Amino acid sequence: MSAVRYRDSTVVDFVVVGSGAAGGVLARELATSGFSTVVLEQGPRLTPADFEHDELKYWFLGAITNSDGRSPQSFRSDPEAVAKPTGMRPALWYARTVGGSSTHFTANYWRFHEIDFIERSKLGPIAGTGFEDWPITYAELEPYYSKVEWDIGVSGLAGASPFDPPRSRPFPMPPLPVKSSGVLFERGARKLGLHPFPAPMAINSQFYRGRAACISCGFCHGFACEAQAKSSTLFNMIPEAEATGRCEVRAHSYVVRVDTDAKGRATGVAYLDRAGREHFQKARAVVLAANGAETPRLLLGSASARFPDGLANSSGLVGKYLMMNYSARVSAVFEHELNEYKSVQVTRVIHDFYDADPRRGFYGGGGLDARIGPQPMMWAQRLGQEGPSWGSAFKARLREFPRNMIVLGHGTSLPVASNAVSLDPKLKDAWGRPAVRVTYKDHPDDLANARFMQDRAVEIMDAAGAQRVTRSPVAEQNFGMHLLGTCRMGNDARSSVVDRYHRTHDVPNLFLCDGSSLVTSGRGQPTMTIQALAFRAADHIARFARAGEI
Ligand SMILES: Cc1cc2nc3c(=O)[nH]c(=O)nc-3n(C[C@H](O)[C@H](O)[C@H](O)COP(=O)(O)OP(=O)(O)OC[C@H]3O[C@@H](n4cnc5c(N)ncnc54)[C@H](O)[C@@H]3O)c2cc1C
Ligand code: SF4
Repeated sequence: MSAVRYRDSTVVDFVVVGSGAAGGVLARELATSGFSTVVLEQGPRLTPADFEHDELKYWFLGAITNSDGRSPQSFRSDPEAVAKPTGMRPALWYARTVGGSSTHFTANYWRFHEIDFIERSKLGPIAGTGFEDWPITYAELEPYYSKVEWDIGVSGLAGASPFDPPRSRPFPMPPLPVKSSGVLFERGARKLGLHPFPAPMAINSQFYRGRAACISCGFCHGFACEAQAKSSTLFNMIPEAEATGRCEVRAHSYVVRVDTDAKGRATGVAYLDRAGREHFQKARAVVLAANGAETPRLLLGSASARFPDGLANSSGLVGKYLMMNYSARVSAVFEHELNEYKSVQVTRVIHDFYDADPRRGFYGGGGLDARIGPQPMMWAQRLGQEGPSWGSAFKARLREFPRNMIVLGHGTSLPVASNAVSLDPKLKDAWGRPAVRVTYKDHPDDLANARFMQDRAVEIMDAAGAQRVTRSPVAEQNFGMHLLGTCRMGNDARSSVVDRYHRTHDVPNLFLCDGSSLVTSGRGQPTMTIQALAFRAADHIARFARAGEI
């Protein structure tokens, strides 16, 4: 817990909004660099004793996530249509707690490859999209990827994939033990001449930096880890930031506005405490790390006479180019029990289809992994969508649970300007603030790529000897957990929101660093890159602050 307490009236060096995957890293790095830092987090501060293995509560009743009661959302696929409230299942889903979605994520930690940063130059423009190169290269980010692996804690095997980008250090921990799904996936993939490798995971395979190794409880995807083996910022970055004596993490602090002065500089943020009382935390600089849904919402909600279209929005791009990654799924039933419900989700991956290949006739690429997939309730729900949802046939399929595994093809999403987070004109949250409105329609190439990945998954499961392989329909997405691209980085202030150092083009002491900064979507596992960007951003922001350039 934070030893230091700052008054709202104290002008701290930095106020960081959000304590998730990026916010936790920024807090630790800025505090260890000697700056007074307040982290404002809308959710509660939970401890391992609070976490439960309750599928109903965590997946359906929003135990630790944004929920309809507090933070409703609306959705439309057509930008001209009136968005409809999503009800119980928000369109963009994230954990609303100290640690953010790093508390309940699945922890697949792939680095982006070199191509991800320069793909537009290699492939050319794609009509109807904002497909661009990044303003930074893989080489610039590489030292920070290593920092994520060593400081956050990632297990894996360097050099195991022939497609891996260059790295300066090995992983700090060996890979996690292989599961049945991993063995079968590896068998099928090798028969086809592919190159399976141990999944890099932000999960301890052994005791590491004061945290235990995974105890294989099986409640990883969508649950928080009571063993503290999952490398959440709740267990690593946040306590380390607090240990500096310069960082205060203030839970139940819902930021509603960033204010600016007559010169157009940020003065701090207004937030509501647990009782709904408004406070104002003064700061020399503001860093938003509230994720790809909430960072643009906050900027749009901070419109003023000087910034009528929202703060930092002179490009008109705040909230636009939302990307969610497409996950194409097949499930496979084998003769013998796999008992996949134990341990982590994923132990084997392939990157043979990572790069886009113009010969396929569409843009896209990705990685495939083998996993348990959903917990029993969700699994039963899915079965009901694929076939009968009652009667003896349904019961017979329910009994297949222990013999079932799935393969997910994680693919690209193109940045399309009409795919966006904006403010709903009518729907309000529990505090009367405009709700998130999501507009999303997959680009045809994203769907073509999903079908391509699904075909490869079927081939692998057939080669592995599955008795039956079932495809989930490749349909338009209306639900996402990867919230990317909504305040993209770039060198040109007309076509991006932040510069290559995450400083907004319009407000010199306002920085944005989280999933919203991504220019392209990568191939499905963005958080390693989000955190590498956060380590890099913190280095540069600290450098600017020391030089008096903020
Ligand atoms: C079930 C699930 C599984 C996932 N699995 C993987 C995976 O295997 N691999 C992978 O790479 N990614 C995975 N992800 C995605 C990953 O969790 C996110 O990419 C990552 O957490 C995003 O980091 P962030 O810092 O942008 O935002 P977050 O981690 O979401 O943090 C944002 C924080 O800001 C807080 N906040 C928001 N608005 C405000 C406000 N107004 N005031 C104060 N606080 C605010 C939020 O409460 C939250 O704590 C998964 C996500 C989910 C939901
Ligand atoms: S399977 Fe391992 S990492 Fe996942 S929640 Fe359980 S103990 Fe934690």
